[in-house]
Amino acid sequence: MNIYKQIFKQIKKYDTIVIARHIGADPDALGSQFALKNIILELFPDKKIYTVGNPASRFKFFGSQDKIDNLNTSKAMCIVLDTPDIKRIDGANINNFEYVIKIDHHPIIDKYANIEVIDDNACSTCQLILEFAFANKINLSKSVGEKLYLGIVGDTDRFLHDYTSPKTFKLVSKLLEQTNIDFTGLYGYLYQRPINEVRFEGYIYQNLTLTDNGVAYIKITDKLMKEYGVDSAAAGNMINDLKFVNEITVWIFLSEDIKSNLIRANIRSVGPYVNDTAAKYGGGGHKYASGAKLKDWETADKLINELDNLTKKQKIVVIAIAGIVVIGIMYFIYNKNQVKEDIKDRKSVV
Ligand code: AMP
Repeated sequence: MNIYKQIFKQIKKYDTIVIARHIGADPDALGSQFALKNIILELFPDKKIYTVGNPASRFKFFGSQDKIDNLNTSKAMCIVLDTPDIKRIDGANINNFEYVIKIDHHPIIDKYANIEVIDDNACSTCQLILEFAFANKINLSKSVGEKLYLGIVGDTDRFLHDYTSPKTFKLVSKLLEQTNIDFTGLYGYLYQRPINEVRFEGYIYQNLTLTDNGVAYIKITDKLMKEYGVDSAAAGNMINDLKFVNEITVWIFLSEDIKSNLIRANIRSVGPYVNDTAAKYGGGGHKYASGAKLKDWETADKLINELDNLTKKQKIVVIAIAGIVVIGIMYFIYNKNQVKEDIKDRKSVV
């Protein structure tokens, strides 16, 4: 049976379902979480569906989270979205549930569910929820369509990143035709921001350090954030905007989070894969977009150095390959000319 049909069968079976996602919620995590909640409730209004995790004040549009402290989950199902590792599941202990389903588009880290749908070629978990809905011939409501659309737009940065595929466009096109949502009117929910954030962005651009190997980084202290009146998530929301800068191959924003006593690293790359390095520092993510929580500035410096070395190594490999290709082409042309000369010589002897 198709895996999405199996999931639908389980959904029908359970009266109480908790839908969780990763800590540090972003539009894809929230969009998939609340869209799935709405899908289930629109079909089965009597079921008890809870969405859990710390609320993200920036993205209130998606909905508000439920508390499940007193809920008996021993006969309930938990669906975890957009979360490859157990330690980053926000607000639910999967061990307390009878049945667990995971739907995710990150490279696999922990296997923790009875049913796991992992497609790390999908642009977003919202894309997978769309696949689930269409596989089960579920009609999307406007509210579901809006959430899924924003989740896809958020994770692909408006269809800019790798893993945006013909399949993404086909699914989104079907979503738009079916729901007729005013999608251009939705962007404000993701991108509207106060002027102090724009000024803060200006500060970041002016003060980036760029290494000879094409690694750009900035250390954002708590003091600086207070000066600009922004929170520790603000820098993370700007990181994707450096994707098309000639001199930058890897870039890292390091933001101090005084409350949690750590430093948040947002890492992006258009060169080497960065998720293995992030994992070495207790983080993870995608090949070209990763993150980690670091214990101090010294560790942050180590991370910068490691990413700098990685970028340098890749540059050397690229130059070496280019050199071999050039030598190969020259050798080929030389041999071809030599053969012509030989033929000419033989003809002149005859
Ligand atoms: P961000 O820079 O926060 O947008 O995150 C980029 C990617 O890295 C996302 O797929 C996150 O899920 C992942 N990520 C961010 N921080 C961490 C972390 N501390 N541990 C594991 N994965 C992370």
